Amino acid sequence: MSTTDSTTASPDGMDSTERDEAARAFLADFRSMSTFGATTGGGVDRQAGTAADGQTRNWFRGLVEGHGFEVRYDAVGNQFALLELVPGVPYVAMGSHLDSQPLGGRFDGAYGVLAAAHAAIRLRAALADASAPAFNIAVINWFNEEGCRFKPSMMGSAVFTGKLPVEQVLATTDPRGTTVREALESIGTVGDFGLEVAAYLEIHIEQGRSLEDHGLSIGLVESTWGANKYEFVVHGEQAHTGATVIADRHDALLGASLLVAAAREIADEFSTDEHAVITSCGEFTVFPNSPVVVASRVDLLVDLRSTDHDVLAAADAELHRRVAAIEERADVSIERGAEHIWASKAYDASGMALAAAAAEELGLTYGTVRTLAGHDSTNMKDIVPTIMLFVPSVDGISHNEKELTRDEDMLAGVDLLTEVLRRVVGGDFVAGG
Ligand SMILES: [Zn+2]
Repeated sequence: MSTTDSTTASPDGMDSTERDEAARAFLADFRSMSTFGATTGGGVDRQAGTAADGQTRNWFRGLVEGHGFEVRYDAVGNQFALLELVPGVPYVAMGSHLDSQPLGGRFDGAYGVLAAAHAAIRLRAALADASAPAFNIAVINWFNEEGCRFKPSMMGSAVFTGKLPVEQVLATTDPRGTTVREALESIGTVGDFGLEVAAYLEIHIEQGRSLEDHGLSIGLVESTWGANKYEFVVHGEQAHTGATVIADRHDALLGASLLVAAAREIADEFSTDEHAVITSCGEFTVFPNSPVVVASRVDLLVDLRSTDHDVLAAADAELHRRVAAIEERADVSIERGAEHIWASKAYDASGMALAAAAAEELGLTYGTVRTLAGHDSTNMKDIVPTIMLFVPSVDGISHNEKELTRDEDMLAGVDLLTEVLRRVVGGDFVAGG
């Protein structure tokens, strides 16, 4: 952790008037962006492939094209804004996502996409009379990071990194039966573009409290937590809530409720001082969900996360042991459907050192953090050297309309991303072209 410095340096040699101008431009663009899918509670609702998502994507396209980027789409709707500095050299990519949760916040993902575009624009201006850079720059708006309308989350980056087959993703349906292919075609943001990237950078709001608690303005992400997410279906038998005696019941809702409670008990039981276990049930659908009917079926999603592989494995084994006990207790059968699993994994240490040096040069306070949430960089770091940065979230609130990152923290993040990009494009992270 560094010491605080009240006057921060400029990442790209701007004088104070130019810095003010750049800050104003960023905040104005951020405000414009936040009008798409805006909710009355001050958040946004831009679920993947909806009209609001399409409008945000088109607005972003207009913004970056106005700055000389070229915009392309791949087969799963990932949006690539390309800034060619030197014809023929490889690309460094930065990105995040413009989609949101239902009644989500304005900052989750969207901040990172806009910060990346502004960092690229600022660096290009700074490079105008410098020597030729080793890389071109791509800003990527990944399709469906949130995974609320179409599962799983981090969908676009999973296809890009070869973890999910494109045809399977295009055929994935939302709860109303609309496919990803239909949704993408309806908003017109799909194509056949492909891009090889040499390195990846992402900046995101922390969505937790550790930066704020420590009074830091920047987090250098050192690792992702491992996560095991499971879709469960609890099968019971529909019956009359009054006329059916308890002994005869196969109550799917009872079974599902015991599973929710078991997940919470496992978090309490398996967390250690060193490695927390976090468990949740974020989705729960009861059939037929009628006042006088014992439920025949419940679909639910349970996830377990931990920073430690062995702790997560032990918690996971306990969950599966408990499933068998719950089947017996509630007299139901529990089927495990799709799973979405990623291992706890470290980010590139040299990338963290590069970002730390950049933060020090700018006089920004920083510390290392782990990410509890998944991000597109979770996928990208498995195929290319990746740097992941966080800015603070007020009270750690996220996936909520009240999500907030202060202007000065957003601007410090753009400064840092610009300086990190300058170093990476100059060949300090990976060998360039
Ligand atoms: Zn996000």
